Amino acid sequence: MKLIYNIIIINKCINNMNELTLELSNQINIKRSNIHEKQKEIDTLNQEIAQLKKKLFNSCTHEWTIDTDDRSCRSTWICKHCKLYRNPSYN
Ligand SMILES: [Zn+2]
Repeated sequence: MKLIYNIIIINKCINNMNELTLELSNQINIKRSNIHEKQKEIDTLNQEIAQLKKKLFNSCTHEWTIDTDDRSCRSTWICKHCKLYRNPSYN
């Protein structure tokens, strides 16, 4: 009788572990799905920013100055009004 009782207890522990494992796995999948949705939103926002930069580049009356910030070796010229690079492919 004690053996049966112990088996029942062990089975219950295994079932609880499986439920916990399933729950944790579900939580991970939900969070991954959230990341995927937010990444799509970030990608859309970056595309919108790129389009706005193109419009800004074409509409600003640029005044090019030497970029004194040492950010990269891309371009040393930057507009003091719109802060875009003179080389549009760097923006
Ligand atoms: Zn400008």
